[in-house]
Amino acid sequence: MRAAEQNAEHFDVLIVGAGISGVGGAYHLAKQCPGTSFVVLEAQESFGGTWLTHRYPGIRSDSDLYTFGYRFKPWTSAPIATAAEILRYMGEIIDENDLGRHIRYRHKISSARWSSSDNRWTLEAARTETGDTVRFTAGFLWMCQGYYRHSKGYTPEWSGMAEFKGRIVHPQTWPEDLDCANKNVVLIGSGATAATLIPAIAADCRHVTMLQRSPTYFRTGRNAIQIADELRELDIDETWIHEIVRRKILHDQAVFTRRSFTEPETVKQELLAGVRAHLGPDYDVETHFTPGYRPWRQRIAFIPDGDLLEAIRAGKASVVTDEIETFTENGILLKSGKALDADIIITATGFNLNVLGDIDFTIDGKPLVFSDTVTYRGMMFTGVPNLAWVFGYFRASWTLRADLVADFVCRLLNHMKEIGARKVTPTLRPEDKDMPLLPWIDPENFNPGYLMRGIHLLPKRGDKPEWQHTQDYWAEKDEFPAASLDDGAFVYE
Ligand SMILES: Cc1cc2nc3c(=O)[nH]c(=O)nc-3n(C[C@H](O)[C@H](O)[C@H](O)COP(=O)(O)OP(=O)(O)OC[C@H]3O[C@@H](n4cnc5c(N)ncnc54)[C@H](O)[C@@H]3O)c2cc1C
Repeated sequence: MRAAEQNAEHFDVLIVGAGISGVGGAYHLAKQCPGTSFVVLEAQESFGGTWLTHRYPGIRSDSDLYTFGYRFKPWTSAPIATAAEILRYMGEIIDENDLGRHIRYRHKISSARWSSSDNRWTLEAARTETGDTVRFTAGFLWMCQGYYRHSKGYTPEWSGMAEFKGRIVHPQTWPEDLDCANKNVVLIGSGATAATLIPAIAADCRHVTMLQRSPTYFRTGRNAIQIADELRELDIDETWIHEIVRRKILHDQAVFTRRSFTEPETVKQELLAGVRAHLGPDYDVETHFTPGYRPWRQRIAFIPDGDLLEAIRAGKASVVTDEIETFTENGILLKSGKALDADIIITATGFNLNVLGDIDFTIDGKPLVFSDTVTYRGMMFTGVPNLAWVFGYFRASWTLRADLVADFVCRLLNHMKEIGARKVTPTLRPEDKDMPLLPWIDPENFNPGYLMRGIHLLPKRGDKPEWQHTQDYWAEKDEFPAASLDDGAFVYE
């Protein structure tokens, strides 16, 4: 054994990250693989991932918590939840299942080396409060590090940014001392973050302008689920309510998704009617709320009670659809020639895609080029032994897939134990060798900016079921549990 590994702690499984995916992974591992030793390493000071990192006013989910919550723990309140509520729910899971003793916070993993002679991973992590380096070895790596860099959001470079006299803020790193009271705020972007932040600050600000290059679809409605309220009135057990409401939501989403492909124009008109109902007939919905793409190509944010639109209707917020020519001392000059005055500019412009947690990977001494691999069902990768990555759903709730991948990983680990294998490597079979290789996700189907900016860094997919990454919950919920572990796509040693 090399010197570096002499004082390493060993675990059967090492989970990277204590966000929704990592905490879910720990729960499933404890339940489905009893006797398996594991540790969760998390760079931040607590659990929650996305829900801990993002601290901007109003931070909330944009999908419902009946499906964004785990399948095993009932969600018992309004479907759209604040970050604080999500953290409380996750904290209960950790406490109720005694998972806390498995989690080590303030451990930022910097490298992971696979050795085929030892059949294990060796990881180095920095303890962020002391700077010490600690080492771990693990039989299997369960990557739950999410998909974006937590330290810094994505802000494009615009000319003149240095001239601007006010503050430029990215929502991902929201300064605690930022005071928007009576300020003119320009928020660049029109995704879910914009839709959340604007209604939360509009009442305080002098005015908020949502500056977008192009419009986004929004869905509006009450932050309530009728069937859940009715079942609760009947005093039905929360476990049943959770399952029934999940099925109802998933059914309704499937119908919506199908319709957005078969009758996109009708779906589009329905979405726009929801917007018009808040903004009135005289508002220019055509310019500011009518995207050029068909519904569902990008995630559709839900606006509870139309709060963003109500802020616009009240005159506290407005939308400008234009392009930035340059930042100026006092704000932004647009390509149309119009100027927007601002004291604060918020860049709600997205994330930096981060494929493997900024961890330096080597396999038997060779650096891993992740984009050269082909994905096994969007969770494992050719030539990368004993590793799975939880990449959840984008158009359905992330957690639905985190639960499905967890079941698969646990089944695989139990299978390896049964057959006495210490190494499993997804490998293209002879019949797969000429398969066309396609991008990680079909850009025709789903194409948000952060994925398109980084798609060249991501693994490829093929055109056969084993090598696809469909992002289709309805197919995967049946395919994953039925997938053979002995069809040649996994090589065991
Ligand atoms: C503002 C916002 C709102 C969202 N709302 C929704 C929603 O409503 N519905 C939905 O389905 N999806 C939503 N998403 C997507 C969301 O990111 C996922 O749903 C989900 O929270 C991701 O969970 P995760 O555990 O996989 O990753 P993350 O939440 O990203 O957590 C990963 C964790 O891994 C840790 N980590 C990363 N690298 C390392 C390392 N090298 N060493 C140690 N630790 C590391 C990070 O510190 C982090 O805590 C939202 C995303 C954002 C940014």
